[in-house]
Amino acid sequence: MRTVRRFGRLDALRHLMALLGRPSSMQRKLPVSILAILSGLAVAVAIVANEPEPSELAQNSPQQPTLLRPAAEPPTNSLALPLTKISVEAAPPKIIVRNVEIAQGDTLMSVMMRNGCDRPTAHAAITALSKSYDPRRVRPGQALTLLFDPQKQNTEGRLALIQLAFVPSVEQEIQVSLNNNGGFKSETVDKLLAVRLHRAEGVIDDSLYLAAKRVGVPAPVIVNLIRIYSFDVDFQRDIRPGDHFEVLFEAFYDERGDFAKYGDIQYAKLHVRKTNLPLYRFVMQDGEPDYFNNDGHSVRKALMKTPVDGARLTSRFGRRKHPILGYKKMHRGIDFGAPRGTPVMAAGNGTVEVAGWNSNYGRYLRIRHNGRYKTAYGHLAKFQRGVRKGKRVHQGQIVAFVGSSGRSTGPHLHYEILVNNRRINPLRLKLPSGKKLKGVELARFREVRGETSRIYAASPAMTRLAQNR
Ligand SMILES: [Zn+2]
Repeated sequence: MRTVRRFGRLDALRHLMALLGRPSSMQRKLPVSILAILSGLAVAVAIVANEPEPSELAQNSPQQPTLLRPAAEPPTNSLALPLTKISVEAAPPKIIVRNVEIAQGDTLMSVMMRNGCDRPTAHAAITALSKSYDPRRVRPGQALTLLFDPQKQNTEGRLALIQLAFVPSVEQEIQVSLNNNGGFKSETVDKLLAVRLHRAEGVIDDSLYLAAKRVGVPAPVIVNLIRIYSFDVDFQRDIRPGDHFEVLFEAFYDERGDFAKYGDIQYAKLHVRKTNLPLYRFVMQDGEPDYFNNDGHSVRKALMKTPVDGARLTSRFGRRKHPILGYKKMHRGIDFGAPRGTPVMAAGNGTVEVAGWNSNYGRYLRIRHNGRYKTAYGHLAKFQRGVRKGKRVHQGQIVAFVGSSGRSTGPHLHYEILVNNRRINPLRLKLPSGKKLKGVELARFREVRGETSRIYAASPAMTRLAQNR
């Protein structure tokens, strides 16, 4: 059901003040252009929305046209403005804003028609849109803003659309607007994003994932952090209570200061096994970024120590025994307890040698990395589509999913490393480190390392209270 709200003088003032006092959800949701249109309009504005909230409403008077212009820092002292300067008069509604969301099974056409557009107008707007954006790419959950001019109704009593706008990605905004000739014109506006670095640190009481989450590190950043360290650290066995971490990561904000997306981790440090493991992001001469330790050695190794999504490991400090047989008997492997369906990654580049049923191992995958090394993965729920014998896979690629097939009591990944076809204890495996920076590149790395350390030291740490992005 739709609700139409009309506002009298006091309501309008109250909402104007509420809007100016803090960034409202409307300022956050609505494209700049719409706010600009709203701010240029006279007085009473009727807002029609499927789910109206008081803060979604914006009104303004012609005397104060700049007040609603979105700014990175909304004026916080606006309550001090002399109230008499704002005159709000009763007038017919000038514009109708509808914020709608694409539902499952919707097309752009069906959504527009359901929300008041007539078919020819919707068709004309979509045709204009298709010059800059494929309308079929619109997905359920996508928010759209429709602006109507209630002064102009067509013969069926339908409202006249003046703009369709949406934000297909954090970097872009698309506006399809009515032009003077009665046609529609589509425009893509690139949004300017500013990067900020955030610092977080904490003590690990249970898992790195939970410890980082507690101090406000967002989940996608934690997953990246774990991935960067999964060459070196067995996240189910190496971490002990009291270990700690540091991280410096990028976040991008739009011109209004609203969060847009996360960027790269620039620096991290894990203190595990009584050792500090600092890592710095550095872009090499060939343009490839990688993570290097203090000495300029890449941590990327031929094989990963944790070839499973480390953020989803279940046991706190690791099960030390095989669920059924313990380590001694069936295999010299290593078990990672994780929920069914957790992605399993190829530990290194290679070729699939076996992907099928293998008695006690259940669903079993083996990858040949080179003449010397192979890795094997047991008790899988299923293989990733396309993963079969002879298939080339690359390090970190999702090849299968954790399960409990074969001789197993619960979902876990059984992981083996084979050297010359003999199973070895993965915990004992010492792989040579990857690339070592030299000469000019090493000198450049040291500069980057120094600068990153300075930024880290100068940044305030996130606290639980600061967490909201
Ligand atoms: Zn096992």
